[in-house]
Amino acid sequence: ASTTTTPLPRRLPPNVTPEAFQTFISRAQSIVGVENVTVVDPQNPLDDGTYMDNCKAHDMHAVYERDYFVASAVVAPRGVPEVQAIVKLANEFVVPVWPFSAGRNVGYGGTAPRVPGSVGIELGKNMNKILEVNVEGAYALVEPGVTYFSLYDHLVKTGLREHLWIDVPDLGGGSIIGNAVERGVGYTPYGGMGALPEPGNPPGLAAHEQKPNKAWQLFNYGFGPYNDGIFTQSNLGIVVKMGIWLMPNPGGYQAYMITFPRDDDLSAIVDKIRPLRLQMVLQNVPTLRHILLDAAVHNPKSHYTDKNTPLTEADMDEIAAKLNLGRWNFYGAVYGPEPIRAALFEAIKAAFLTIPGSKFYLPEDRKEERGVLHMRSDTLQGIPSLDELKWVDWIPNGGHLFFSPIAKISGADAALQYEVTKRRCREAGFDFIGTFLVGMRDMHHIVCLVFDREDPEQRLRVRWLIRTMVKDCAAQGWGEYRTHLALMDQIANTYNFNDNALMKLNETIKNALDPNGIMAPGKNGVWPATYDKEQWVL
Ligand code: ADP
Repeated sequence: ASTTTTPLPRRLPPNVTPEAFQTFISRAQSIVGVENVTVVDPQNPLDDGTYMDNCKAHDMHAVYERDYFVASAVVAPRGVPEVQAIVKLANEFVVPVWPFSAGRNVGYGGTAPRVPGSVGIELGKNMNKILEVNVEGAYALVEPGVTYFSLYDHLVKTGLREHLWIDVPDLGGGSIIGNAVERGVGYTPYGGMGALPEPGNPPGLAAHEQKPNKAWQLFNYGFGPYNDGIFTQSNLGIVVKMGIWLMPNPGGYQAYMITFPRDDDLSAIVDKIRPLRLQMVLQNVPTLRHILLDAAVHNPKSHYTDKNTPLTEADMDEIAAKLNLGRWNFYGAVYGPEPIRAALFEAIKAAFLTIPGSKFYLPEDRKEERGVLHMRSDTLQGIPSLDELKWVDWIPNGGHLFFSPIAKISGADAALQYEVTKRRCREAGFDFIGTFLVGMRDMHHIVCLVFDREDPEQRLRVRWLIRTMVKDCAAQGWGEYRTHLALMDQIANTYNFNDNALMKLNETIKNALDPNGIMAPGKNGVWPATYDKEQWVL
């Protein structure tokens, strides 16, 4: 395509003329090939697509108008030199770019850029190789397009799944790199020994073509200050490959569930969890799920009620009885040979089953054909799935937005955080749907806000709700671990200890590494000096 046939996008990058944009596009085409450049033509409607066939230039669960967080074009490099060439080009034209891998970051903005008109860099389309699976070291080295599904399929096909398991999140279609750099639950960032060159590489080979140091994937730190973390939730670079530690087959596995009948059992349950998790009697990241999350995985709201107002306590008791679940449901697994599992089960039951009315289940004890316990049983042994997508259909045209504050593993804190968020959900006219994911010393409290994405009034309400909860939580000393594009400024601003020391450091690093401010400006509230922050914050 010549410059003259390049359509103008729905939105140009800021301060870029139509002519400059067209020249940029034709130069990008000559780098990655015409077939790997798509301009977001205003003639085409912004289709959300589906989770597996996702849209690439806007947020499929838009909380503002669909064409607010929208890219001007999407470019898909075919290798490291092309990534480098595109970044050089963006610097030359001062065009902001927004890198993503698979772009299934649902509930946090999908593929959409923070600055309208940015050029999306889709790493996952062409750079999707599994570079290595190492059985002895129990790790894999992957490119951005490798998803949980694709790594799992590879392990099964090569017979390696006998030896190695992967740690998967709720939905298997995300990329391993995208989830790790966003600090999705359960991941280790990539390693530092790579700075020590492997002897024997012929001189003159480009860095990405050299054989890496043998301990690169085994020891995370290298030497000196540990900088790997600056590539997570940041706008300082593009990750082109990453190692991930795999779990050796533990030699035995059993998933289980414990149900608790009362809404106000929450505090007692969480106080039981803390010591067990710290002592590693609870070996993995277990989840404590609210009844409506499990109810929504099974059926839409209309299956249970005609109401379109928030459900009452009595409604929820009725649903729990109907599904033979608790008001809170705890899902975990034990790993290892039989005697180890038996000993762990004894300790787990002794702790939890003192809570009145609690019940313990193995998957075979459940009557339903595929209940949440059967789904979790797959997930907790590293088998990726799409089951958890279903809760988005709780209401028609379900879109979703995650609110994810961190909580202490303490009954009092969990109960207060639940109370504060539940009350606001109700006030905004939505059901509270949520889950606590238990890390070693913290809980990620994930509140799943489901709204009708075709209804502007509901989008307005859900925005009010999440902005209010951010404020409420900050007032209690709670912060969020990750967020949607629309909330990045507000949340970054809550981490303002000591006269915004953290943001000042982040901005200093940003301006030093990216003087033109082209790499994902505004990501996680970090604006380069080339942007007038006051004008851009949301
Ligand atoms: P997933 O692969 O889980 O679907 P995305 O591809 O949507 O996730 O990535 C989520 C976010 O993580 C992106 O919006 C971007 O900010 C960041 N990100 C993803 N991949 C990369 C990468 N290769 N380099 C730098 N940042 C990335």
